[in-house]
Amino acid sequence: MHDNLIGGDWVGSSSLLSNINPSDITENVGNYAKASQADVARAAEAARAAFPAWRNATAQLRADILAAAGEEILARRDELGALLAREEGKVLAEAIGEVVRAGRIFRFFAGEAVRTPGEILPQVRLGVDVEVTREPVGVVGIITPWNFPIAIPAWKIAPALAFGNCVLFKPSELTPAMGWMLTDILLRAGLPRGVLSLLMGEGRDVGAALVETVDAISFTGSVQTGHSIMAAASQRMPKLQLEMGGKNPLIVLDDADLTLAAEVAANGAFGQTGQRCTASSRLIVTAGIHDRFVAALQERLEAFVVDNAMKPGSQIGPVIDQRQLDKNQNYIEIAKSEGAKVYGGELLQRDTPGFYMRPCLFLETNSGMRINREEIFGPIASVVRAANYEEALAIANDTEYGLSAGICTTSLKYAQHFRRHVEAGLAMVNLPTAGLDYHAPFGGTKASSFGPREQGSYAVDFYTVTKTAYISP
Ligand code: NAP
Repeated sequence: MHDNLIGGDWVGSSSLLSNINPSDITENVGNYAKASQADVARAAEAARAAFPAWRNATAQLRADILAAAGEEILARRDELGALLAREEGKVLAEAIGEVVRAGRIFRFFAGEAVRTPGEILPQVRLGVDVEVTREPVGVVGIITPWNFPIAIPAWKIAPALAFGNCVLFKPSELTPAMGWMLTDILLRAGLPRGVLSLLMGEGRDVGAALVETVDAISFTGSVQTGHSIMAAASQRMPKLQLEMGGKNPLIVLDDADLTLAAEVAANGAFGQTGQRCTASSRLIVTAGIHDRFVAALQERLEAFVVDNAMKPGSQIGPVIDQRQLDKNQNYIEIAKSEGAKVYGGELLQRDTPGFYMRPCLFLETNSGMRINREEIFGPIASVVRAANYEEALAIANDTEYGLSAGICTTSLKYAQHFRRHVEAGLAMVNLPTAGLDYHAPFGGTKASSFGPREQGSYAVDFYTVTKTAYISP
């Protein structure tokens, strides 16, 4: 049994969450206490009480705690990676990679804590100094999805703490184990009581209560949930950062290196079982290379090993749960009814019972089809044929989303034009739309994102408020 952390105390509950291993649904990974709305109120009160001392703590103290947490995460990468793989179904190598990323994020923000920017502006009026400083926002609510259950909490919690905020953290109900582990590590790294509380439970209950009470909300999840958080928050107008879904295009031009393009598409679309907000779910391919590209990609699909996330050699794990498996299968039916050809996508049986399916391609599709407009979030990608670069770019931009976009080409001219004109927060050339570095700003445009960028040195913009002081002697 794993409890919630509320104001520095581990607090149990008679109501439990349990997480099932998607690779082997006979395994219950653990039991976790479900927080109540009263727990949220107590955690918020404790955070408010802890805030004055934490905001005034030295940057060095905050940096030391973050660095210690980062080092412990890195030292325990294999153990934490195995737990992540069992909890979420990400294959072991990818799971360990995610843990390493989380550890490095804490190390990075340990550095940022002592580098918090401020500036002195030149005198416009004689004798008046203008000082611009950053102050913490207060109590930040952090609401995270299941698909990166340690990296996403890391890239929100680390900057929140680095810049002197207190945190109420609600992980996805599907992946409480990684949320609990991260909280335990941070507490033992030396966080004072009340600075971080862990509130496990359901979004519509614990998440919604949290939205009502904090000074700022950093959320990652679906567009639908993002909208409901924004609507609920509009009465009080806390600071908001919403990172949501994508329908990310990858353009493949006639002049692309075919082998590289097939590799980039296979990785971008099916890596992490396609369950990435940045997955390359729309492959827009110009006519001269279309058939060769589809054949090369199908070859890679055939070679993928789909199996238990813990099994050596497994390249694609199961999808997260029965609901997502049903959703994926339903989109296969929608694709057929819209006139697309379906390649792959069959349900699979493995030694351990789990949510397995073959990766799937929708062929002969067009941009107006539902399958090309709605985020599916599984190991499924569509191929759309385009006459030329100009048409491919128009199709790429024909979406409500704007998270990540890529192009495979050997032409600098098209690469540069794409970088300037694609409507997305991330533009990738000869690289998958997914797979991003922790020190660079991350986020999208259009319906994919709202608020300041996450990650890297840009994170300071959300987790601080700027104060401008005019000082006359
Ligand atoms: P989700 O269903 O929107 O849930 C995300 C989080 O919000 C969970 O912790 C959920 O709680 C909570 N929540 C649900 N309803 C809430 C409410 N009314 N008030 C407050 N919190 C609420 O998303 P998901 O299925 O976990 O994740 C998949 C989605 O995340 C995809 O759309 C994907 O594209 C997106 N995503 C985006 C990024 C990015 O950076 N742009 C990165 C990763 C994933 P429970 O689940 O515990 O109920």
